Amino acid sequence: IAKRKGKNQYCVYTEEMGVKEVRRMELEKDLPRALEDDQFHLEYQPKWNVKTNSLYGFEALIRWDHPRLGVVPPIEFIPVAEENGIIVSVTKWTLETACKQCYEWSTHQGLNQPVAVNVSPSLFQTGTLYELIKHALDQSTLDPDKLEIEITESMMLHDVEDIIRQLNRIRQLGVKVSMDDFGTGYSSIGLLDTLPINAVKLDRIFTQDIEKPSKQAIIQAIIVLAESLDLDVVAEGVELEKDIDYLMKLGCFVMQGYYYSKPMKFEHIDEWASQREASLIK
Ligand code: C2E
Ligand code: MG
Ligand code: MG
Ligand code: MG
Repeated sequence: IAKRKGKNQYCVYTEEMGVKEVRRMELEKDLPRALEDDQFHLEYQPKWNVKTNSLYGFEALIRWDHPRLGVVPPIEFIPVAEENGIIVSVTKWTLETACKQCYEWSTHQGLNQPVAVNVSPSLFQTGTLYELIKHALDQSTLDPDKLEIEITESMMLHDVEDIIRQLNRIRQLGVKVSMDDFGTGYSSIGLLDTLPINAVKLDRIFTQDIEKPSKQAIIQAIIVLAESLDLDVVAEGVELEKDIDYLMKLGCFVMQGYYYSKPMKFEHIDEWASQREASLIK
């Protein structure tokens, strides 16, 4: 068995390779085909406003239905797609699908909430994001304020001024921007007042140990800061009722997590929304 990629560039699995590496190589090999063969689907997870007791929006989360490996989660294949550049086509597909499906639930199901799409930092380096968004909006005829993008702090490692320029153009379309996993990355607290964003999403690590006074102090500081900048605060990873109580006391009123719903298929949104409504009336 050869130890590295052969001269003909086909992959060669060696005995020393771990299961993980073999799987990663398989994913890399199969990724171009996945797009062509329509092997991706989006699941949607609601964000719930506890102050108004109403739906705040949905986040789109990509899944790969691999013909042999079953459902592959995004943490496994998004990094691979980023590495080989396929992320641009994946993002194009995600934006188009999310816009189309959001248009559908707004016209057929009377749900007027926006959809949020996760965008990798590398999209800003390619400079193609604006065009992809514009195209997805035009194609779906979705109202631009029904689309949101979720970006992460790690993108601030790149040319910040260029990113701000790109974000401003995107926001001029009417699209909203939120900062995902806030508080975990190369913290962009110092940039919050210059970044053109609408919301911050408190990372799940804060919700995890919310009994700890130190975590509460950090959450509260973030909330005060966000409010002074007129940003919404969304808590990620809300699993338990006690999380909600703590978060509300600290001034956070938009929740997302398994407590409300796991990410669900598009076809189930309608049912979930009507059940949610029914349970509120009771
Ligand atoms: P994220 O954007 O921070 O999404 C939150 C992740 O936490 C999702 O995992 C979601 O299913 C999970 N989650 C939600 N509520 C709870 C909870 O109460 N408890 C726990 N333990 N987990 C919860 P998922 O779907 O596996 O996505 C992981 C990450 O992959 C996302 O993190 C996002 O960064 C990335 N991702 C997902 N879809 C896309 C996409 O279409 N494009 C790109 N570029 N990245 C994506
Ligand atoms: Mg997200
Ligand atoms: Mg997140
Ligand atoms: Mg997170």
